[in-house]
Amino acid sequence: MPTRHKNLGAAQWIADEAIIGAVDLTLPENNVFGENVFGPAAQRARLPKSVFRKLEATIARGAELDPSIADAVASAMKDWALAKGATHYTHWFQPLTGSTAEKHDSFFGPTGEGTSIAEFSGKELIQAEPDASSFPTGGIRATFEARGYTAWDPTSPAFIMESPNGATLCIPTAFMSWTGEALDNKLPLLRSMEALSASALKALDLFGDHAAHRVFTTVGAEQEYFLIDEQYFYERPDLINTGRTLYGAKPPKGHELDDHYFGSIPDRVLAFMMEAERELARLGVPIKTRHNEVAPNQYEVAPIFEISSVGADHQHLIMQLLQKIARRYALVALLHEKPFAGVNGSGKHNNWSMGTDTGMNLLEPGDTPHDNLQFLFFAAAVIRAVDKYQGLLRATVANAGQDHRLGANEAPPAIISIYLGAEIQRVMEGIAAGKVRKSTPKSFLGLGTPVLPNMPLHAGDRNRTSPFAFTGNKFEFRALGANQELGMPNTVLNTIVAESIDYMSGELKKKLAKRGATLEKAVVEVVRDVYKQHGRVVFDGDGYSEAWHKEADKRGLLNLRTTPDALPQFVTPSTVQVFTKYKVLDKRELTARYEVYVEQYITKVNIEAETAANIARTLILPAALRQIDLCDAGGIDGLTAEVRGLTEELVAAIAALEKVNANHPHSGTAIKHAEYMRDKVLPAMGAVREVADQLEGIVADDLWPLPKYQEMLFVK
Ligand code: ADP
Ligand code: MG
Repeated sequence: MPTRHKNLGAAQWIADEAIIGAVDLTLPENNVFGENVFGPAAQRARLPKSVFRKLEATIARGAELDPSIADAVASAMKDWALAKGATHYTHWFQPLTGSTAEKHDSFFGPTGEGTSIAEFSGKELIQAEPDASSFPTGGIRATFEARGYTAWDPTSPAFIMESPNGATLCIPTAFMSWTGEALDNKLPLLRSMEALSASALKALDLFGDHAAHRVFTTVGAEQEYFLIDEQYFYERPDLINTGRTLYGAKPPKGHELDDHYFGSIPDRVLAFMMEAERELARLGVPIKTRHNEVAPNQYEVAPIFEISSVGADHQHLIMQLLQKIARRYALVALLHEKPFAGVNGSGKHNNWSMGTDTGMNLLEPGDTPHDNLQFLFFAAAVIRAVDKYQGLLRATVANAGQDHRLGANEAPPAIISIYLGAEIQRVMEGIAAGKVRKSTPKSFLGLGTPVLPNMPLHAGDRNRTSPFAFTGNKFEFRALGANQELGMPNTVLNTIVAESIDYMSGELKKKLAKRGATLEKAVVEVVRDVYKQHGRVVFDGDGYSEAWHKEADKRGLLNLRTTPDALPQFVTPSTVQVFTKYKVLDKRELTARYEVYVEQYITKVNIEAETAANIARTLILPAALRQIDLCDAGGIDGLTAEVRGLTEELVAAIAALEKVNANHPHSGTAIKHAEYMRDKVLPAMGAVREVADQLEGIVADDLWPLPKYQEMLFVK
């Protein structure tokens, strides 16, 4: 079938009246937010008061769960779910695959009299033992000891997932081995939240704040993605197998004109977004913003921030629903970090902060000197943590897809640095220098008159090139890939900041014990020392520039360019030490993760290589051969020679790729294997692509077997 004809089909989307139509939001039945969530409102309505209070204490203050309430909660949850049409329930968990897992159980059991009754008790709520022995564990679970448990996480509310023929109650759970080791991304996140809360509360004590009982970390992630017509997706084995295009010549038009960014959202896309947001709202996911992103057919969606564990769960739902709802509009949502070479990739900005149960954001500069002091203390703790554990932070965003983005001229660079904004940076530098700068607003630290400046709420301008930026009252870790779950990056952030806060509290205590000490003076001294030692990680210039790479090198900052360079950071002595100290992951658990990530990298590159070779042989090569016939028939020798030459190059490049990918090293460590994939296999794929992309520019359009960039990126 000629290509042009198909394009017309893809471009002819017509609003289906059955699913389109504005909702009257003044009607109560149309206020759908949270209607499929067994959250506080449903819990209060359905649980006995005493049970509700106990559950609330666990959720709001981290009190230990009273197992005696499990039966009552289970029974209320079941009745609620049945009323919503659920026939099954599942412990919903997050194995180390980076996505979620579920195994459904029916609520109904036979009675033996030819009927059935709904069964679901506290036992089923609290714990399950899915077989689940095929998930990656990095050697923690040999199959002979394959028992793995899922355990209810009461901090994240259960929800109903609807599908065309029924509904399922999903219970967020943690997944662990029978010996208690974490096999998922939820358990360490919860442990790290616990650790940070304890550290921050101790610090707040020193500041004279005894009212807070819990410090929560919060996360709000901005998600970028592409939407392409599903017809193109299913015509591309590379997109199906690997999530990215392994071939495709650069189109004449990309995003050079910046005409897509923040542009008016195409009808079909907006219709999709509205439905996706509505479905997410029903699941209690508070989507706030949406817009076109930089690249053609690239978009972004962001929720309002939530407590980390809930935010991480909701992030999974966002990724899943974007993909699911897109299909209703004959679109496919691409979450790969770099679906199109030469076109901006998709990332995820992980906005992160810490707040008390009394409603105070610890990273809010505030407008009293006391608030300012506290802010400086916690901000300095973050700076110290990011500097000290820069390699580990880099490792949390390392994967095969990210290697096409990080370090290229679009995403944040692979070097981790912090952008503070001009105001805060000036204040920190002033403190470190022990003097007031002319440019510093108002006077501060004139020792004796310890008045800190009022810091503007949204201090500083923006720096899009920074991987870690302070943005008003939170830090924004911008180096995550679009495909990433939030558990691991936030686990790392929480753990290293907890360590930093504890270190600084220790220093503060020492200084406060001295005669004549004041809180102001002591805090400023601690912040000064920390900034002197760790201020090197602060950088306000262009993170993409060559000059920064040189400067960062001079400052001793790490530049871990690729995934195999970065992953070993998961098992360095300093990582093991901090994770063990805070009981977030022990050495075995860390090693397991490291092994899983290395294995995933190898496997992904191998799948790409096999797919690339296969497409080249069975789709592109035949097209080139047909083109030779065409040229022969036309009788123009120059043309035949040109195509023939490229085709011969293609054949040679395919053979070379197949050869390197058939000869993986079988001895040596896994990381050496990963390096082989990076150094031998990826370049061989690149060589095939180079010839193939040239052929794309020569072969007759109706003979070219793959949808082109121009089609995928511009048909909306
Ligand atoms: P921008 O693109 O300017 O960074 P957006 O409004 O698109 O801003 O996204 C900001 C994100 O930061 C949102 O997801 C928002 O909920 C989140 N955010 C705001 N405050 C906090 C906080 N205290 N903790 C974590 N995330 C936050
Ligand atoms: Mg942002």
